Amino acid sequence: MRSLIRPAIQSLLLSDLEKELHPAYRAQQVADWLYRQRVPSFEAMTNLPQQLRTKLTEKFAFEQFEQVRVLGSKDTTQKFLWRLRDGNLVESVLIPASPALYGTRSDRRTICVSTQVGCAYGCKFCASGLEGWTRNLHASEIVQQLIAAESASGENIDNVVFMGMGEPLANFDNLMRAIAIINAPWGLGIGARHITISTSGLAPQIRQLAQNPLQVRLAVSLHGATDEVRERIMPVNRKYNVATLLDACDYYATRKKQRITFEYILINGMNDSDEQARELAKHCARVGAKVNLIPYNTVHGLEWSRPPRVRQERFHSILSDRHIDATLRREKGHDIDAACGQLRLQTVRSDRAAVADSISAS
Ligand code: SAH
Ligand code: SF4
Repeated sequence: MRSLIRPAIQSLLLSDLEKELHPAYRAQQVADWLYRQRVPSFEAMTNLPQQLRTKLTEKFAFEQFEQVRVLGSKDTTQKFLWRLRDGNLVESVLIPASPALYGTRSDRRTICVSTQVGCAYGCKFCASGLEGWTRNLHASEIVQQLIAAESASGENIDNVVFMGMGEPLANFDNLMRAIAIINAPWGLGIGARHITISTSGLAPQIRQLAQNPLQVRLAVSLHGATDEVRERIMPVNRKYNVATLLDACDYYATRKKQRITFEYILINGMNDSDEQARELAKHCARVGAKVNLIPYNTVHGLEWSRPPRVRQERFHSILSDRHIDATLRREKGHDIDAACGQLRLQTVRSDRAAVADSISAS
């Protein structure tokens, strides 16, 4: 299903703006207003002739979010829920110090960004998949999450992870367009090495991404080291099994000369056995990958839980003993439901309950 809302000017690249605006230096002026000055409307672009401002207003929408909720506070993890122009809700999480894994310093601010409203992949443990997929986000809606979070928090973001709601590689074109804007010197100017795409394992798109010269980082959500285990928690494994996925990862790592990261949520009794750890170690050795172990965050309405700390550590040590670079995340924001999709789900469900209440009351 295509989104019915009009694309906004913030979905355009500088080269697109140059085609729209004459003389060409107007394009740089508009980019400056959007990404340096961060003005809220075309009207505020005061060095453009009035006629041009009117033309732009008629031709393009202007991306804007309404802040619905914010959880957490400065210096902690902050979670934002935004209402898009068509009423849909998405969330972004601002994390004070990013995991060392992504090669960043402790004074950096990382934002975890959503790429779709909902998610079609239905991983059994994940809040984002629970309500299904609604639509892809436009490039402008991906970029705006950074701008809105900086404005709401007063922080400067220098690291971006596509680990919010949705499957980034299933919205490939809009994702790449957004990354181009986030990375560009005329845009937000964040280095490609500070941008990480997380995927549930869409093998063909991983190969496609490998063709792109940008050195963005890749994280692959593995969560199971054999088909038997992975299939139980991630339906996508029936389409791209572990062997197919590893081939694509190997291709990416070789072609990009880059170490990828396997994300591995530890779920009690599901994927946390010694055998899974040993298999995982083999995969890492083959692809030259490192591992980010994430103790499962409880999702309201799902029965899964995280293994006891000793089990988490045992799993970690099996990897370390085999010289695999593995981090056991003491994740931030557990207290405010930082796992992706949870804030939106709560709000969508409580809105729905409120609507149901008001209907039954009337
Ligand atoms: N669709 C992409 C990106 C979004 S999910 C993907 O699946 O990779 C981003 C990360 O959050 C993934 O590694 C995902 O598995 C993890 N995640 C989802 N629900 C979680 C939960 N309840 N606890 C811990 N991590 C979770
Ligand atoms: Fe979608 Fe990723 Fe959640 Fe799976 S883990 S349902 S792919 S957002």
